[in-house]
Amino acid sequence: LEPRAVAVVTGANRGIGFEAARQLALHGLHVVLTSRDAARGQDAAERIRGEAPDGAGVSVEWRQLDVADAASVEAFATWALETHGGIHVLVNNAGVNFNKGPDNSVEFAEQVIETNYYGTKRMIDAMIPLMIPSPYGARIVNVSSRLGRVNGRRNRIGETSLRDQLLNDDCLSEQLIDEMIKKFLEQVRQGTLSSNQWPQMYTDYSVSKLAVNAYTRLMSRRLSDRPEGQKVYINCFCPGWVKTAMTDWEGNISAEEGADTGVWLALLPFELGTNGKFFAERREISF
Ligand code: NDP
Repeated sequence: LEPRAVAVVTGANRGIGFEAARQLALHGLHVVLTSRDAARGQDAAERIRGEAPDGAGVSVEWRQLDVADAASVEAFATWALETHGGIHVLVNNAGVNFNKGPDNSVEFAEQVIETNYYGTKRMIDAMIPLMIPSPYGARIVNVSSRLGRVNGRRNRIGETSLRDQLLNDDCLSEQLIDEMIKKFLEQVRQGTLSSNQWPQMYTDYSVSKLAVNAYTRLMSRRLSDRPEGQKVYINCFCPGWVKTAMTDWEGNISAEEGADTGVWLALLPFELGTNGKFFAERREISF
């Protein structure tokens, strides 16, 4: 990457996003640490600057960004273009999960889909035109989850034909993903969700990450025919089971370890051309 390539991380005030921002800054990138809350984000940026004596060598700035709010994403894109002329790296980390109580409300399911899937999609769509063409190219890394695997052993879509379509590049389309989401939310709203049709564990969260994974593959295909010098590579990864607020500090690894594969993907030598793949522990895994 160029010295001071610009990296944007969403939901970076805490957890895996904070760690991704910290590690990218320590690798010498200029990090735009974003959060929906100003005080929490500014404090997080200050903590990263505090890691280097006098902040030397560490370049972090904070910017407000709520990925569930289209106006906020649009304002951020305008600012990024005007201030930096574009960006090199986007880490779509912001996410929510309410699967803690006995069951999920309609409101929670809607918020999970809106933040995790549509928020990620909104950022990808807004940032791609801003990704700086250079011999180094640009990358997008989506923080996803193994829970969103199409063919997970214990957690998967029940309908074989939908599974096949989602995994088949000739069938995969924005319409297919959006129709799946629409059908899911309709069933949630009508109280007709059939448990054998959708992932059994953390259902709305799993559907949201499944959609993130599918959109990653779809975008990788759309971006693959860009000429040399204008390439954008997009991949997703599962951080593992991480001790953060999302898991009530359960999990078996730290946020620092959880962010590792995402940072590795963001910094991967561009010549490798890794595009449209799913990773965990720095290894490719199946969708
Ligand atoms: P945290 O709850 O610690 O962090 C989530 C971050 O996302 C917070 O900074 C939160 O901000 C932010 N966020 C939520 N909604 C929005 C929004 N609308 N706009 C901008 N930011 C938002 O969880 P993790 O660090 O664990 O999660 C990070 C990512 O990793 C998520 O995508 C999650 O799904 C994924 N993941 C986590 C796993 C784990 O075991 N922890 C496992 C697999 C995937 P705020 O502080 O304002 O709420």
